[in-house]
Amino acid sequence: MRLIFVGAPGVGKGTQARLLQERHGVPHLASGDLLREAIEAGSRQGREIETKMQSGALVPDAWIQALIFQKIEALGSGRSFSLDGFPRTPEQAKALEEMLRRAGQAPVDLVIDFEMEPEAIIRRLSGRRVCPKCRMVFHLTNLKPYQEGVCDRCGTKLTTRSDDQPGTIQKRLAVYERETKPLLDFYEAAGILRHLPGDLSVSAQYDAMIELLTRERLVGAA
Ligand code: AMP
Repeated sequence: MRLIFVGAPGVGKGTQARLLQERHGVPHLASGDLLREAIEAGSRQGREIETKMQSGALVPDAWIQALIFQKIEALGSGRSFSLDGFPRTPEQAKALEEMLRRAGQAPVDLVIDFEMEPEAIIRRLSGRRVCPKCRMVFHLTNLKPYQEGVCDRCGTKLTTRSDDQPGTIQKRLAVYERETKPLLDFYEAAGILRHLPGDLSVSAQYDAMIELLTRERLVGAA
């Protein structure tokens, strides 16, 4: 199954994509993680990406497309994937469609939009903690690590993402409304857009997602 997860920052796209990878073997491709890896590589482009990310703006299409298309091409034609954070604009969506067509790869099956009110998003992002090493995501109240402040998976000290500061959160939400929301019309017109509530516990959101994927015959009924 070839999926796209859309929704404002903090709605649970990454957490659900990771669970789908662990439990159903669907590779999770997160544009934000690819950009953070590029920053860590320390190149000049990495520094420019960091400046954009910290301001809450999107990075130029050509940069993110180069990173994500390389991963999709490496997966090959028949492989499943979930794209988390890409595409973020109608232009990126058209570029993805074109890339899959040119590479002779299967198109996207379904786009899942995680819906959530801005006040709830701000609460989510303010409590989010991340592992800088393996990129696992936790939350101070909703998704606590076993040991406070420490990653369950690799034992690294958890941090707050530099773009999860209040001013930057507001900017990212505005960018989402202005640049990413139009993407929903694009996929609605294609007939592959579905919606799920974002403001659920991790397990309730996962169950709702699996129910949807089962209804769409993308995973087998239990
Ligand atoms: P995320 O981890 O998905 O919240 O992304 C963090 C930041 O990376 C965003 O605020 C953007 O600056 C950048 N970014 C991630 N995905 C994209 C994309 N598809 N297009 C442009 N910028 C992106």
